[in-house]
Amino acid sequence: MAIQMAAEEKMLIEMVRDLAREKVTPRAAEIDDTGEFPWDMKALLAQQDILAMPFPEEYGGTGSSELSILMVIEELAKACATTSLILCVQQLGSLPILLAGTDEQKRAWIPRLASGEWLASFGLTEPGSGSDAGAMSTRAVRKGDKYILNGVKHFITNAGLAHVNTVFASTDPSAGTRGISAFVVEDGTPGFHLGKVEHKMGIRGSQTGELVFEDCEIPAGNLLGREGEGFKIALATLDRTRPGIAAQALGIAQGALDFAVQYAKQRVQFGQPIIANQAIAFMLADMDIKVEAARQLVYHVGELMDSGATGFGRESAIAKTFASDTAIEVTNDAIQVLGGYGYMKEFPVERMMRDAKITQIYEGTNQIQRMVIARALSR
Ligand SMILES: Cc1cc2nc3c(=O)[nH]c(=O)nc-3n(C[C@H](O)[C@H](O)[C@H](O)COP(=O)(O)OP(=O)(O)OC[C@H]3O[C@@H](n4cnc5c(N)ncnc54)[C@H](O)[C@@H]3O)c2cc1C
Repeated sequence: MAIQMAAEEKMLIEMVRDLAREKVTPRAAEIDDTGEFPWDMKALLAQQDILAMPFPEEYGGTGSSELSILMVIEELAKACATTSLILCVQQLGSLPILLAGTDEQKRAWIPRLASGEWLASFGLTEPGSGSDAGAMSTRAVRKGDKYILNGVKHFITNAGLAHVNTVFASTDPSAGTRGISAFVVEDGTPGFHLGKVEHKMGIRGSQTGELVFEDCEIPAGNLLGREGEGFKIALATLDRTRPGIAAQALGIAQGALDFAVQYAKQRVQFGQPIIANQAIAFMLADMDIKVEAARQLVYHVGELMDSGATGFGRESAIAKTFASDTAIEVTNDAIQVLGGYGYMKEFPVERMMRDAKITQIYEGTNQIQRMVIARALSR
């Protein structure tokens, strides 16, 4: 596949590759170990205008192509999945504003998201509604020039850290998914607070927690689009951001493969490097086949988005499913190549396997992705 990309964007990818190797890789194990949000990594991405990539120039962004954003996520995830997630979620939490916001709303929130001063979050999931997000029970009731929100969003990335929280709530429960609306809730709004913070298996530096709304009053001007358009906005956002999770999975898999190859060349058993055994060399070859196939799917969906095509939900779901399944298989095999050392925290591959698992779950589980693909086939 011939990649269409501007020269500056190619240079940017190379710059991020160096940055990831020099600044992100050395921090990855510590971020995993402490489970603390890496503010230094967020500052680094902001300084380098990496967080500005998903935003149009008129709102302070760099207006980068989707393909280049995917490639940057891939490079960061090779080094540290948590760090790559900072960029993924900046896009996820902001896209509803870009897709449905007015110019005034974009001017109010986007420039400080593009500069990296503010973080964003995307609040869709609730304790009782995950895959079936449309069954949410968070309510928003209009009262004069305000909406009053009540409910809990959980498993929300950047909960308690984001200034701009895109929140989905029902304004008309009798209308089902057509009664769901999208809002921006700013940090510090009375009646809005952080609930339980989760302890996780992987992406441990990313903060995942609850957004709690108790008679939380927000200005009516924080409604994105019209009442009832929220579910459509959420699905359109996820179609465009799922490839970012696929790119994250791809990066994790490539990082594990690179490490396993380097290790297999150096580790000597029975008087020769273990890569000289066909059993190991073929395992590495199979890993390479899967990673390369995932890359082609991820870049393809990036190019589709950049071409202005509509209706890339199937391609987005295929890339996410294949790349995340690949990430789990490849990181598992990487541990096998390292033997007992692969099981130890001293080496990065066990962390990569723990980090890979989430890519099969969030932004729609792989079962749900298969439903999206099957629905496209039966149309
Ligand atoms: C670390 C982390 C970060 C997250 N960040 C965010 C975030 O920022 N914002 C946000 O809104 N959400 C976020 N989520 C939530 C995530 O998107 C959901 O966990 C996910 O969509 C699955 O929902 P659930 O966990 O309730 O599982 P469930 O929906 O209860 O699913 C349980 C199992 O049943 C399967 N299943 C469900 N329905 C079907 C069906 N019809 N057919 C076949 N299988 C089915 C699922 O695939 C899964 O295997 C995050 C989750 C995690 C773990």
